[in-house]
Amino acid sequence: MKQPLSLTWELESIFPGGSSSPQFEEFLKQLEADIETLRQQVAASVSPADSESTKSLDSVIELLQSCSGRLIQASEFAGCLGAQNQQDKGAVRLSSKVTGLRAGFEGISSQFDNVLRQTSDAVWTEWMARPEIAPLAFVLSESRDLAREKMSPELESLALELAVDGYHGWSEHYETIVGSIQIPYEDEEGTKQLSAGQAFNKLDDEDPKVRKAMFRKWEEAWGGAADYCADTLNHLAGFRLKLYKGRGWEDVLKEPLDINRMSHTTLDVMWDVITKSKPALVSYLQRKAKLLGMDALAWVDVEAPVGKSSGKIPYDQAAKDIVTQFRKFSPKLADFAEHAFDNNWIEVEDRPAKRPGGFCVSFPESKESRIFMTYSGTPSNVSTLAHELGHAYHSFLLDDQPLFNQNYAMNVAETASTFAEVIVSDAQVKAAADPEEKLALLEAKIQNSVAFFMNIHARFLFETRFYEKRKEGLVNAEELSALMEEAQKEAFCGVLSEYHPHFWASKLHFYITDVPFYNFPYTVGYMFSTGLYRLALEQGASFADKYDNLLRDTGVMTLEDLVSKHLGVDLAEPDFWQGAVDLIVADINEFLAMTN
Ligand SMILES: [Zn+2]
Repeated sequence: MKQPLSLTWELESIFPGGSSSPQFEEFLKQLEADIETLRQQVAASVSPADSESTKSLDSVIELLQSCSGRLIQASEFAGCLGAQNQQDKGAVRLSSKVTGLRAGFEGISSQFDNVLRQTSDAVWTEWMARPEIAPLAFVLSESRDLAREKMSPELESLALELAVDGYHGWSEHYETIVGSIQIPYEDEEGTKQLSAGQAFNKLDDEDPKVRKAMFRKWEEAWGGAADYCADTLNHLAGFRLKLYKGRGWEDVLKEPLDINRMSHTTLDVMWDVITKSKPALVSYLQRKAKLLGMDALAWVDVEAPVGKSSGKIPYDQAAKDIVTQFRKFSPKLADFAEHAFDNNWIEVEDRPAKRPGGFCVSFPESKESRIFMTYSGTPSNVSTLAHELGHAYHSFLLDDQPLFNQNYAMNVAETASTFAEVIVSDAQVKAAADPEEKLALLEAKIQNSVAFFMNIHARFLFETRFYEKRKEGLVNAEELSALMEEAQKEAFCGVLSEYHPHFWASKLHFYITDVPFYNFPYTVGYMFSTGLYRLALEQGASFADKYDNLLRDTGVMTLEDLVSKHLGVDLAEPDFWQGAVDLIVADINEFLAMTN
């Protein structure tokens, strides 16, 4: 690996010239023309009446995939330009141009689903068996099944239009409520009004007095907006329930489970294993309270830091460490990471005008990825870097697949990333010489399980119960707060001294409309990758190939089929999930032993 590494990424090889790139302009022009051609082709398409006439749709399927891939390429490129320089007006213009193209494309794509929908079962079977189409059979059948489970195309398209000012309208209204939130904060300079985002950051303050005082005001502020939030949440849920009723869907979890390509049984078995593991988490939280000099932790203390991590890791060193740790698990993963470092795929420079946060994007046309973050040398930065490299590796394994097959669900989207992160964070814990440092690193790992097993569990319990109640009628703000607190108490096994009743109002995730139940897929993803890591530890070098093959299939099968095919595991049985939980409990036991 070459050193010193570049701190900035290289986008010129994707399209030269940044936001005024003539090549990118040309690319967009061609894409727009091709989407228009696609529109005409789909409009002229009819459902095939026999196997022979399915062949005429091959070119439509090809163009659909090609446009979809180029839309991703374009949208990621514009996104990267905006992230590296928030002042880049050209990037904003390009992003909105791509958004417009995408909206047009999605309309065409759902029209094509109709062609699939109307194809008879007999023709369908022959169509999907054709060697040219067979690799796409899973994705195409999924689209057809979904289209068949919906209302008529006319009603669906009306619902889609009504959703703009109804469903999505309520979601946008929530943003307005958040924007109006003001929370008073006193410091040396006097009292100032903080936005919700600013106040939220203060909830993490190292000083327990500061975060407690802020939490009180935080609850109060959301209490003041609770009636507006309750209206919003009720109408959002009401819209969703009406739509489901129109489609004949009884289970409110049907849509999110379908999107995540997993069964209700799998979800139940996973939660059950997690619930049984909670005594260990309770011991951890009780010990943490003791270490912080408290009788019991309040909601706002759960994420307070224990131990101290002071060491700064230079970027070049971090890169070397990551590659070394990856190599112990898989030479292919290590070589890939080296390639990403050597070819300047990673943007880490600490400079103004850069967007906060981290992400990884893939360019299907270039078959390359780019990673974006700000590196300041903390152990958590190193984990983030490994995490994003994991995402890039997942894309790399998929980049020779047809575009339709590169699309994976949220619950497996974080598999490769979390896996890569755990390889590195485990090694960090083992290598830490200073006990305070070791404790801080170990605690950071355990914190993840508290978030996924308790906090997210509370959200899931709340949302499930809220929807049940909402079917009977409106649920007012007091009832929502009571439901929330009850769910939190249950998920945290009553170990906290104080809960967050207005969490349902303050948490954006309950108001998102593009995916319902924006909670359990996080936990599934975490448990899934931890379960895989457990198998990797047990099976050693022989696991790497299985792992690659599994990742390669993430776009073409259900979660259950994925692990059954590649690992011979049945997710309806608790064993795999238990394997994941055991690793976490081992971390907790180490933490308890270190702090005894
Ligand atoms: Zn991620």
